[in-house]
Amino acid sequence: MYGDDIASVLISEEEIASKVDELAELVAKRYPADAPEGDLLLVGVLKGAIFFMTDLAKKLTVPTQMEFMAVSSYGSSTSSSGVVRIMKDLDKDIAGRNVLIVEDIIDSGLTLSWLLRNLSSRNPASLEVVTLLRKPDALRTQVDVMAVGFDIPNEFVVGYGLDYAERYRDLPYIGTLDPKVYGG
Ligand code: 5GP
Ligand code: MG
Ligand code: MG
Repeated sequence: MYGDDIASVLISEEEIASKVDELAELVAKRYPADAPEGDLLLVGVLKGAIFFMTDLAKKLTVPTQMEFMAVSSYGSSTSSSGVVRIMKDLDKDIAGRNVLIVEDIIDSGLTLSWLLRNLSSRNPASLEVVTLLRKPDALRTQVDVMAVGFDIPNEFVVGYGLDYAERYRDLPYIGTLDPKVYGG
């Protein structure tokens, strides 16, 4: 549907679905359904994590509540600077809650480490991260992640929520973008 903009399918719709099942099982094991902190609070990072967040929530066998945050990292559209600005904050206080950040992708890890500092200052009972994708550079940064879906090569990917200039989020799979799209 995007012509030949997509160079290759890196992770198919089916592979994503079975990984989401696996991650949901892993996450559910960590959080008792009757925790004194109340329902697990999923914090989705807009917009990239939308599909992962909703698919994961549907597969989790523990009750969850959902909140969203939007952050913007200064820099070019294909790389992060680590200077982060909150575009949309959480609507609710997270103090005393079990919070699980749901991320689309960790590249440098700069956005996530900023987010972890920011949210931990709000005194949640626990704070963990699940990310669908992780790139090799992320392994060099000090971010503790509870669960990772796929470690992927250092290529720019789109689809299943991930965009380039707001396009391609609607693809049901994750693919690499032909460099001609971003002027390569
Ligand atoms: P980091 O701060 O970890 O370098 O970057 C995280 C953010 O950069 C992600 O949440 C995502 O918005 C964007 N990003 C990093 N790598 C990619 C990629 O390969 N494709 C897309 N579409 N966005 C990416
Ligand atoms: Mg993200
Ligand atoms: Mg983006």
